Amino acid sequence: MRFLPVFLDLRAGPVLLVGAGDLARAKLRLLAAAGARIRYFATDGQHDLSGVGADAAARIERAEGDPLTADLSGMIAILCAGAGDIGVAMSVRAKSVGLPVNVMDDLAHSTFIFPAIVDRGDVVVAVGTGGASPVVARRVRERIEAVLPARIGDLASFIGRWRKSMHQRLPEMALRRRFWERVVDGPIGALVLAGRKDEAEAALKNIPDPAAFAGALASGQAEGSVTLVGAGPGDPDLLTIKALRALQDADVVFHDELVSPEILDRVRRDASRVPVGRRVGKPGIGQDAVNKLLIDAAKSGQRVVRLKGGDSFVFGRGGEEVEALRAAGVACSVVPGITAGLGAAAQFEVPLTFRHEALRITFLTAHKARDAETVDWSALTDEKMTVVVYMGMTAAPSVRAGLLAAGRSPQTPVGVFARVTRPDAQAAVGTLQELPGLIEKVDGGPAILIIGDVVAHSAPWRESNLNQVISKLLEPAA
Ligand code: SAH
Repeated sequence: MRFLPVFLDLRAGPVLLVGAGDLARAKLRLLAAAGARIRYFATDGQHDLSGVGADAAARIERAEGDPLTADLSGMIAILCAGAGDIGVAMSVRAKSVGLPVNVMDDLAHSTFIFPAIVDRGDVVVAVGTGGASPVVARRVRERIEAVLPARIGDLASFIGRWRKSMHQRLPEMALRRRFWERVVDGPIGALVLAGRKDEAEAALKNIPDPAAFAGALASGQAEGSVTLVGAGPGDPDLLTIKALRALQDADVVFHDELVSPEILDRVRRDASRVPVGRRVGKPGIGQDAVNKLLIDAAKSGQRVVRLKGGDSFVFGRGGEEVEALRAAGVACSVVPGITAGLGAAAQFEVPLTFRHEALRITFLTAHKARDAETVDWSALTDEKMTVVVYMGMTAAPSVRAGLLAAGRSPQTPVGVFARVTRPDAQAAVGTLQELPGLIEKVDGGPAILIIGDVVAHSAPWRESNLNQVISKLLEPAA
């Protein structure tokens, strides 16, 4: 590390800005927005304050004369942007008096550099690359922006307001730290992040004994919680920001077999990962056992994530888990995920509804032929209804039989979409008549079946039609 990140107190004194043109204006705006007082030497004589609000303009002093002989006393830093040779000379001057100086795009003459900044009020993140690549720094900043809760700055200032009085009530530092950890990680922190500051304030005031509150965490009596997280169909970039946050905060993750390794990679490194799902052909540990694991882990004070493929509430038995947790008095919340049917639709461009053609969608499961027999196919006769079938590979012949018996045309377009959003995703399209054969064309599951006229709008359908036309054209004339 060549550059140590530190934070400059803008209240300690003004910043000297020397330069001209767009570069100087950009720095002027940055400093002004941060709340700095600025002494501004315009090397071209034009003090252009455009883009600076009236409030900030009041903090800008338009300096006249030569910056190379100007009084530097009381300045906290010097900044040169678009200043040409004057920048280099200013750098020499600054160094001789020990003031931090930055000459834009000139590392050799700078003693500090500007990071990319994530600004959330009291929470500020600075990202640097030692001047090597501002573009990389910006990309890193974007990632951080995405995972930080919007109100994280509010949380810091909330605690800032209470710190002093807590200091008096809890003089022991270790206990105080545990107290704040519990506030930040628990329901009070969640209230602040949800924008419910007043309720958070009241809850904090109502803690009768802060030492006992902090001690509960130390002795493992703190109540844990369970978050049901939908992992989506496979592509880790389809995780929601909330899901990612939950994975990063977890102490333990109980996951299904369907959850891809790339997604498990996003789990906090120190968290334990416990597979609890069924694998094809092998039974899982059973729903009651899963419920018990979740409850026991939460009751031991851990932050538990129950991670499922797709969405927990779409053929994911999330409902049963929520009920079990509720009955056990364990706090729980649900983060939705992109269900496989929607993943398939997006990847292969199947519009599940379409004006005039498809006005309704049904999601159903047909795990075994037996399930398929219990489906009331007569409810699916409507040709303007798109049918999305989960776990339908083995029962494909029964799905076809049911829909044909319900009066759906054997020519209805269908698609089989396997391993959607993963690198080895595959699609096979054809007609309802051909459904069981289409299953053979994809190399294994999991797969979603989509049945309805909308499949004719999909990308693979258009491609296969195009291929047919081309092969017709290439056929030797008889
Ligand atoms: N809760 C999950 C569904 C679990 S049921 C969700 O919302 O997606 C399991 C079925 O989901 C599989 O049999 C298959 O039909 C479907 N499925 C899950 N992941 C899939 C994927 N990546 N590609 C295609 N289908 C998938």
